[in-house]
Amino acid sequence: MIERKPTFSPTLDQKAATRVGQDMYGLISKLYPICRSMTGEGVRTTLRVMQERIGGLKIHEVATGTPVFDWVVPQEWSIRDAYIKGPDGRKVISFANSNLHVVGNSCPVHQSMPLSALRAHLHSLPDKPNWIPYRTSYFKESWGFCLSHNQLASLPEGDYEVMIDSSLTDGHLTYGEMLIEGETADEVLISCHVCHPSLCNDNLSGISLAVAIAERLSEFRLRYSYRFVFVPVTIGSITWLSINEGQLSRIRHGLLLANVGDAGKITYKRSRRGNADVDRAMQTVLRESGAEYSIIDFIPYGYDERQYCSPAFDLPLGCFSRTPHGRFEEYHTSADNLDFVKSEALAHSYATILTTIWVLETNARYLNLNPKCEPQLGRRGVYRAWAEQSDGGGAEMALLWVLNMSDGEHDLLDIAARSGMRYESIVKAMRVLTQCGLLSQPAVT
Ligand code: ZN
Repeated sequence: MIERKPTFSPTLDQKAATRVGQDMYGLISKLYPICRSMTGEGVRTTLRVMQERIGGLKIHEVATGTPVFDWVVPQEWSIRDAYIKGPDGRKVISFANSNLHVVGNSCPVHQSMPLSALRAHLHSLPDKPNWIPYRTSYFKESWGFCLSHNQLASLPEGDYEVMIDSSLTDGHLTYGEMLIEGETADEVLISCHVCHPSLCNDNLSGISLAVAIAERLSEFRLRYSYRFVFVPVTIGSITWLSINEGQLSRIRHGLLLANVGDAGKITYKRSRRGNADVDRAMQTVLRESGAEYSIIDFIPYGYDERQYCSPAFDLPLGCFSRTPHGRFEEYHTSADNLDFVKSEALAHSYATILTTIWVLETNARYLNLNPKCEPQLGRRGVYRAWAEQSDGGGAEMALLWVLNMSDGEHDLLDIAARSGMRYESIVKAMRVLTQCGLLSQPAVT
């Protein structure tokens, strides 16, 4: 039996928006304690928790040693416990208190050493003395601990016992993927990273936004199919691209989600192409939002847009953030915690992405079927149809713009930009004119 779902609408009332923001924050809180890394149980557990919300999420495992373009899937890291005991035998640092205390991917160690030798393995932030830094050591075998600078300064001289019960063994790289099928096989790719331990904005906010968007889109009939990809940063997207290289031509639009929960304004980083539909859609949505925002050009640095927009693929994918990575002082520290992300900001990011998706769903090129001079709108029932669709305001200009620019070359985003009218008004005009037989059904965009 064919399931009949309503056509997608991004509209949310204030109560629903508040609830969504709280739900997203709730998922962040649930995932926060898990020790994620590039590989290992933390990523699996995270994906399993997400499956409770989005049952269609599939977990994929790619074996250690698999070649992926210029890289190789690495060994899997497991950690069970870690601590440092002071000269008096008491634990001064315990992995159980914060998974940020251990440098990610640390090799196992168990030995005694004087503080002078231990210091080479300790990382702190002198200018943020209360915060624990987040460090990893992915591509060289080493071990280390992270701690607040105040704690480091308080350590007495003497011998310390260091213990990291970890292992690096052949296993798998784990990633998650979910497809929501639309009316066409053309896809919108939504990607975020899942490899950071207890950090909220960098990592968990993107995950919770993608889950909320997937939940919402599942309720509607959609023009595009939506592919959600949850990968460890860099090696995960490289692996995914390597496995899916043959299917990339289906991707018509893409968004990478990262750092979407802080109180800062939205920052959108354009695709490498710079004028992809998703770039134009996001620009329109932000311009019309009334909120502060900034749009920046692509640079080959940041998150997985570096891979998706590498020259052989050049996918039409932009990066959606609030404050971008490295631009907030809590970035990669223990202060990127549950206090740093706000449910209101999460809800605002959610509404912005949904509206952008609505723009992508509705944008198309149309053809004016009566292009020789202006048609007689009244005789064709256009004004009556418009009044049924809206409060009647601004009708004529929107109708004239859509009629004039629907020459098969310009899409609705072009018309909104050229006319200076809101995209929503242009869509209404398109619907009215289509209903009255003055516009063709959309040409393939
Ligand atoms: Zn990061």
